[in-house]
Amino acid sequence: MHTENLMEKIVSLCKRRGFVFQGSEIYGGLAGTYDYGPLGSLLKNNIRDSWLRKFVHTRMDMYLVDAAILMNQRVWQATGHVDEFIDPLVECSNCQKRCRVDAIVDEKDIMGLVARHGGSATAEDLASAQKFVGPLMKYILEQEHVTCPDCKKVAWGMPRVFNMMLETRVGAAADSTSVSYLRPETAQGIFVNYKNVVDTQSPKLPFGIAQVGKAFRNEITPRDFIFRVRELEQMEIEYFFNPDDTEKPWQELFDYWKEEQLEWFTAIGIDAERLHDYEHPAEARAHYSLKTVDWEFEYPFGTKEMSGLAYRTNFDLSRHSEFSGQKLDYFDEDTKTRFAPHVIEPSVGLERLFLAVLASAYSEEILENGETRVYLKLAPKIAPYKVCVSPLLRNKPDLVEKAKVVFQALRDEFTYVVWDDSGNIGKRYRRQDEIGTPMCIVVDFDSLDNDDVTIRDRDTAEQVRVPMSELSEHIRTRLA
Ligand SMILES: [Zn+2]
Repeated sequence: MHTENLMEKIVSLCKRRGFVFQGSEIYGGLAGTYDYGPLGSLLKNNIRDSWLRKFVHTRMDMYLVDAAILMNQRVWQATGHVDEFIDPLVECSNCQKRCRVDAIVDEKDIMGLVARHGGSATAEDLASAQKFVGPLMKYILEQEHVTCPDCKKVAWGMPRVFNMMLETRVGAAADSTSVSYLRPETAQGIFVNYKNVVDTQSPKLPFGIAQVGKAFRNEITPRDFIFRVRELEQMEIEYFFNPDDTEKPWQELFDYWKEEQLEWFTAIGIDAERLHDYEHPAEARAHYSLKTVDWEFEYPFGTKEMSGLAYRTNFDLSRHSEFSGQKLDYFDEDTKTRFAPHVIEPSVGLERLFLAVLASAYSEEILENGETRVYLKLAPKIAPYKVCVSPLLRNKPDLVEKAKVVFQALRDEFTYVVWDDSGNIGKRYRRQDEIGTPMCIVVDFDSLDNDDVTIRDRDTAEQVRVPMSELSEHIRTRLA
């Protein structure tokens, strides 16, 4: 479904109904940070829980870790982040606006641009931010008449690199040994704990280590609401396997994980029609990766990366082994061989999923009276509230009392059931529609005689009467 101004409508609904607020709002905000309100917190938790259920709890080969956000600075020297976690930055010399170069030129056309303007770049350059910096890029910006988004002039300074790690100090000493970083990704918390997991759990290959947690990036220009932010949450898996296993070659494992990702995305209600896989060309991949495929989503502001899948070989473990001096390998008891396992990494950003879920769920319907009904067609399993219970009229004690009985009984069984008796019934429906509550239960006068209730469906607005004795079974079926 195509909706006009979809992004504005989602942002407005998020604020109006308590999903997402600007971070530190009463102080004028802090760019690139957002706070999740009562509804947004529930939705985020439900997406996270669904991921944990699918990829950790229902599997025999997955181990969950929760590593510290602050890590020894050597971790980020080993991975190359200290030198290479960079974005290309350029400043407008007319208005001093700072831009990411890859935000003002088309990243996918970068090879073409470089070639067209007589430049050459190594494969390594093209896989990093280096391709967007230096005199050649300045020349390209000028020749292509790329204008400043603020003042519309072409007056660029020299494009240079900017490290996106958020640096901090740990402890009282002010020397270089106290430097730490708010981790730029959760993956390294997994690799650094590889030996701990192997030593304590004795897993058999292939197996995965999963982690959910916050990561931080000092984005030059945070934008597109919660899509590009400075504080984010990642859900990552490192799936370790024997690269010499001829029965299960890596290509097969890679395809398997790609399908698993897609299956789960659609299960939580992301519109499959708006999802596309994008394989990074060899020259644009990180040098250690043999294959990288993104799942892209058609966001209202363009088709962008929502999640990634990368075959990272044994790059991370070998670097950590080198820098730490520890053996980070695997001993196969059956074949009595020792080797370095390889990994496939399925990863996804929770906020990007959250936004794809909302963009997929947002729906409008023109009613007979000409008004527009807005509803969030959320998958019931991730909807913040599953059921809303209310008495038809709140000033009729019989109705209120009976509705309270229904509410208490359901609340013990389902997470969450909400009580709503404010305003008239039409307003309640509109409110619950907007926050995506799949079912509204109303206790009316007939309920008193017949011991039944009406259940209204969020998507069709149709109502059915269900006997009290069958109510919980009925709800369970519809939530499944
Ligand atoms: Zn400018």
